[in-house]
Amino acid sequence: MSDAHMPPAHPFDYDGSSDGDKLREECGIFGVVGLSDAANFVALGLHALQHRGQEAGGIVSYQPDQGFNSARRFGYVRDNFTKQSLMETLPGQLAIGHVRYSTAGSKGPTAIRDVQPFFGEFSMGGAAIAHNGNITNADALRREMIDRGSIFQSSSDSECIIHLMARSLQRDIPARMEDALRRVEGAFSVVAMTRTKLIGVRDPLGVRPLVLGRIGDGWCLSSETCALDIIGAEYVREIEPGEMVVITAEKGVESHHPFRPARPRFCIFEHVYFSRPDSIIGGRSVYETRRQIGVELAREAAVDADLVCPVPDSGTPAAIGFAHESGIPYGMGIVRNQYMGRTFIEPTEQIRNMGVRLKLNVNRALIRGKKVILVDDSVVRGTTSRKIKEMILDAGAKEVHFRIASPPTAWPCFYGVDTPQREKLLAATMSEDEMCAHLGVDSLRFISLDGLYRAVGEAGGRDPDQPQYCDACFSGEYPVEPADMIEKGFQMKAAE
Ligand code: SF4
Repeated sequence: MSDAHMPPAHPFDYDGSSDGDKLREECGIFGVVGLSDAANFVALGLHALQHRGQEAGGIVSYQPDQGFNSARRFGYVRDNFTKQSLMETLPGQLAIGHVRYSTAGSKGPTAIRDVQPFFGEFSMGGAAIAHNGNITNADALRREMIDRGSIFQSSSDSECIIHLMARSLQRDIPARMEDALRRVEGAFSVVAMTRTKLIGVRDPLGVRPLVLGRIGDGWCLSSETCALDIIGAEYVREIEPGEMVVITAEKGVESHHPFRPARPRFCIFEHVYFSRPDSIIGGRSVYETRRQIGVELAREAAVDADLVCPVPDSGTPAAIGFAHESGIPYGMGIVRNQYMGRTFIEPTEQIRNMGVRLKLNVNRALIRGKKVILVDDSVVRGTTSRKIKEMILDAGAKEVHFRIASPPTAWPCFYGVDTPQREKLLAATMSEDEMCAHLGVDSLRFISLDGLYRAVGEAGGRDPDQPQYCDACFSGEYPVEPADMIEKGFQMKAAE
């Protein structure tokens, strides 16, 4: 078996961590129509979306004289989809691609057959599809279709959509996709392609992101605007919750609304952590929102200290906001090794035991003798936070205060984000005081849910009757019932 078909031996996260102490977005998607060598643009787009999935990636392209071509590989985009010999096998003006981590509930690394995009051949032609998110009734749908004779080749939700499309009686592929997507529940943003069309869809609540861009005579769809920037595309707009766009080079963008209208519930954690800080969400700079989270946090959880330090890199904008609002000096008390992920592809046990020191080092000269506020984006299991606290105290800090730019993560996400089981989430089993004692820090405070809502632009905070965002991992209030997980024994929060 070639390397391309083997999962990486020790996959490291983009930030160099591999200890499951961060929530991880599971996928990024990108598609292009109307540009020569579309696959090259898709590869660049996926490279910009690499933070959303680093285990594997795939691209499908279409060229009239060659039909559909595809390549799926484990590893980083830059290590695979930059090779001329591979990219030459993906010709055409239409292409879609996908980067991924393994999906919710899967054990261990992915098999290459689970790597998207997926392809289906229908009587009216072929279609390839890739999605970001999670279908919460996929198990039930899969059982139903297997009972009726479907043969599945992967464990991916996307394959469910292909099988549902195959069963539809509609006469064209976009209509079959509408039929299929009306049967699925959950959170999904989809990019798909036929021989002539690029298709994008967001679920009715718009939980996962998808944006439209324009470049020359071509169009593109992307999980985030940062991937439009890398190819020089102009940001046009977000695909609306519940909208399907069908795009051709000749006719441009056709908009459909196949679902019953619903109140949008975009993932609030995209603002906190998943999206890149140079992306725009809902017309707001992600960087600026994160800085504002730090401002709110400083208002809610002030403490007497000498220095505000970010836990790099994701805590940086909130730390800048915290320092600005509190008037306490900001400093790089922790420095990240940018090359961690590539240096130790297969670390020895001894090196792995060094844990967080492999990727983060303390700036001793700055820390010594100071009362330090550490600003991080989230606490999931708390393992990394404990190690960082030890490093800061070893460096001679007088006090360590944690300030967290999200509310306590007490519930798992079932909408396309890799979360530990509920019992492994620190906040699921401990109060804030207990977490503070467990981490061994002088104080620990999280931003409130209302504070987070204010920071993302909801001046009145969270509407408890009709929350404006999905915040289930903090509140336990799931906007779409996770049917498959309930069947597997997951206990929803009791009604208050
Ligand atoms: S549960 Fe949390 S991470 Fe998942 S979609 Fe909702 S807000 Fe985002």
